[in-house]
Amino acid sequence: MEENIENLQFPIGKYKPNLEFDFSRTVKDMDTLGSFAEMLKESIKDLDESDFKKTYRKGGMNIAQIIHHWCDTHTYAFLRTKHTILEHNPNGKLQGMLFEEIEYQIDEKGAIEGSEVIGEKLIECDDVILAIGQDNAFPWIERDIGIEFDKWDCPVVDELTMMCSLDGVFFGGDAAFGPKNIIWAVAHGHEAAISIHKYCEEENLKDRLPPGMNLTSQKMGIHEWSYSNDYDGSERRLMPHVDLKKRFKQLNIEVELGFTLDQTVKEVERCLNCDIQTVFAANLCIECDACIDVCPVDCLTITENGDEEDLRTRLTAPAENLDEDLYVSAELPQTGRVMIKDEDLCVHCGLCAERCPTGAWDMQKSTILLPKAKDEAESRELQKVSNS
Ligand code: SF4
Ligand code: SF4
Repeated sequence: MEENIENLQFPIGKYKPNLEFDFSRTVKDMDTLGSFAEMLKESIKDLDESDFKKTYRKGGMNIAQIIHHWCDTHTYAFLRTKHTILEHNPNGKLQGMLFEEIEYQIDEKGAIEGSEVIGEKLIECDDVILAIGQDNAFPWIERDIGIEFDKWDCPVVDELTMMCSLDGVFFGGDAAFGPKNIIWAVAHGHEAAISIHKYCEEENLKDRLPPGMNLTSQKMGIHEWSYSNDYDGSERRLMPHVDLKKRFKQLNIEVELGFTLDQTVKEVERCLNCDIQTVFAANLCIECDACIDVCPVDCLTITENGDEEDLRTRLTAPAENLDEDLYVSAELPQTGRVMIKDEDLCVHCGLCAERCPTGAWDMQKSTILLPKAKDEAESRELQKVSNS
């Protein structure tokens, strides 16, 4: 099975870097790159719009996406390599990475209509690893130095400390656990920073501050909340794009047209406000059933407590997603029954909290607090003060 997937992923075989330098091959590669754009134009000139949507394998990129991908990755690779290797390497030793500062000209619709380089910024570093591809590639790490790799050729990394199987070597982002997103990459960087400091101080890497969470009420008046709770259940709309033929006639135009103001407002209202939690105070509930009547998705129930399996059969709406836990409150003061909420159905509209006469339901914003190196340092200082 794995073999088949690999054949589909790499139809012409996996990339094999040639680590032997050969100048004649470099000259040949430069020729290939020089004629690449013309060859590409020639090979796609007779394709029509439906051809551009064809993929070479199920789930793979279509022709239009591949062409854009080539352009993006190769332009970045070229610019970054040029700056890092040629311009700031006077002594044969890397000094840093030079970035161009770009200023964009925005038209009245908010679209980018042009850009210019307004300056440069050098960020000093000892090493640069280009990260522009879609697969992890560590051919430059010797396989006998103690770093263990998994079946995807990713290093085996501890999810808490970010350290791999070789002491003192840390990974993060896509390099650690395969494709994720920039938010995870930044979070991994923070975790690794804590670990690196602890490693240098010879402390236990796993002895670190726990994550925390703050809840803050969003109520601003009887029917007023600090967020828009007008949930709209309409389908996600597709981003309008410039017509394919126009795009290939003029390769430097922005492809995404963006939403109009009205479309944007509608799209925003689809948000489920996952950061706003329905928080229940059982001691305030008088069991008037108003919240149950008003809930548009029937996800609330007041009933006798029981086993989860039994409870799931007695809810206002069936709770069929067994992966989602049910919220079961403490006993209600009037009858000893419990309030149950099926989070799988809740659209965070806040109507239960608006309707509740006693404020037993509240809509509260949750903020997750993930400790950073600065927090660890402050906690260490506090520890020292309390020990002295
Ligand atoms: S927030 Fe809306 S959907 Fe969720 S429990 Fe309250 S009324 Fe029901
Ligand atoms: S509206 Fe408030 S008081 Fe009434 S049942 Fe719901 S939580 Fe309890």
